[in-house]
Amino acid sequence: MNVNKKRLLVLFFINIVIVVHIILWYQFGCQKIGTLSLNGIVSLFGMGLLNSAAVFFIVTIFITAILGRLFCGWGCHFAFFQEAALKILNKLGVSPQIVNSKATIIQYVFLLKTLTAIYEFWLIYGYPQFRIGFGDTQVMTVDLPRSPLIIALFILFDAFLLIYLMGSRAFCRYVCPWAPMLAIFDNLSVWRIRKVHECTGCMSCTRSCTMGIQVHEEIAQHAAVVNTNCIRCFACTNACQNGTLRYRPGFNVISGAYRFRWLISGSSGYFWYYDLLLVACGLMVAYYTQKWLGSFQTFLGAAWGLCFGVSMIKLLEKRYVSSPETTPKKRRLLPIGLIIFSTLAWCWATSTPHDIRLLLRGNRFLEYLEYDKAIATYRQALTEYSSQNEIRAALALTYKEKGDYCRAITEYKTLISSNPDNAKLHNNLGTVYYRNENYDLAIEEYKTAITLDEHLDAAYGNMGLVFLKEGNIKEAIRFLRKVFQNEDEMVQYILLIYKNNQKQNG
Ligand code: SF4
Ligand code: SF4
Ligand code: SF4
Repeated sequence: MNVNKKRLLVLFFINIVIVVHIILWYQFGCQKIGTLSLNGIVSLFGMGLLNSAAVFFIVTIFITAILGRLFCGWGCHFAFFQEAALKILNKLGVSPQIVNSKATIIQYVFLLKTLTAIYEFWLIYGYPQFRIGFGDTQVMTVDLPRSPLIIALFILFDAFLLIYLMGSRAFCRYVCPWAPMLAIFDNLSVWRIRKVHECTGCMSCTRSCTMGIQVHEEIAQHAAVVNTNCIRCFACTNACQNGTLRYRPGFNVISGAYRFRWLISGSSGYFWYYDLLLVACGLMVAYYTQKWLGSFQTFLGAAWGLCFGVSMIKLLEKRYVSSPETTPKKRRLLPIGLIIFSTLAWCWATSTPHDIRLLLRGNRFLEYLEYDKAIATYRQALTEYSSQNEIRAALALTYKEKGDYCRAITEYKTLISSNPDNAKLHNNLGTVYYRNENYDLAIEEYKTAITLDEHLDAAYGNMGLVFLKEGNIKEAIRFLRKVFQNEDEMVQYILLIYKNNQKQNG
């Protein structure tokens, strides 16, 4: 079995492991080890949380700094979809051409935005306090796509269409934010594809390279592949019949400027204004997709934008300039300027608004049962954003949890005065009355909630609870039947509440 098939099998197996992990997590509640993702950098530095993802991030960086981007070749779940897409396209007789463009800038913008998320965490929650929680996935899972449609679209556009239009591993080369970060650490790696024998210049290695690296040129110049896009897939060593290439440790004296050149490619297959068009399409569509579909879908939007941009270029321009010399040296600073400008614009457009930051900070205090701090934060937020009902609802909830029912009632009444038809608010107010032992007022609020929304199960359940408290089992059953499909479960519930009531009454 050749190395490409082995790699495809390994990548497939990784996806199977992920599916098993998801099933164990959601179906069987086995939640000791959370998501493994390079996003662990945000958990670690943003919150001080050493979760599974943070450990995964540390291990991956460590491996990359020694062995190179082996993770991208053999360990990334999305690599499988890209490799499989290329195989299927090849089977259909399509050989996508690798497009070289400075649109790789998009990856830097996404990476820098991810890193600024760390600073945003500090702004919201204060400086990180170190703690260990391998199963804590709160930073990781919020944005993960759950809809099969989004996942299918993701595979269709980020794997198939992007590869069809921009060549193999296009997602890795243009969209993935981790690629530039891993590339930086790849620079340190001593294990590389190295020349160990004379080269005949047949270029089989270059033709086999999925990352579009000019392997024969690299080994002629440096006796090793120094391009940080090398994912250590070993397709080139496999393709070289001459035995010229081996994956070995060693040292290469490469200037800092040269290394930097590989981080932002100096060559492009396009004129600079096509590069600009691609960057603009990728980022703009990514921005609006994020806004409408959620932040994880940013990558889907970038793929849509890039596909649109490349199609436009293909339609508009028949003349394809492939020579790297089309980019004069003095324009090297252009991509750097563009990265800075695009990143600032992206961060400005996508940063968390101040009122939401305060809300999140208050929520964190509430989560840790620090009610006074939560109340102070929400109150501060309301002095600036008095019409923000989400903050007032959080304040009311905090008063309720703290047991300050009078203030909770005041806040809920304020909310209801501006949203009289909101069934959930009436239900929440009813719950405060219930806890304050004002059962008649609680029933009144629950009844209003049910009138406003006859499908609000919580209100039926709460109504049943009040009647159980009052010892009116017949009435309680009338409402609880709406919540429990199974009579046995309902009887168990009634017995439990009855026993608790007995205990409380001595
Ligand atoms: S560049 Fe990103 S998507 Fe590609 S293999 Fe590496 S981590 Fe995975
Ligand atoms: S395949 Fe081997 S011999 Fe041919 S160019 Fe590449 S390294 Fe040289
Ligand atoms: S240079 Fe060789 S190992 Fe590196 S990506 Fe290309 S084919 Fe794979």
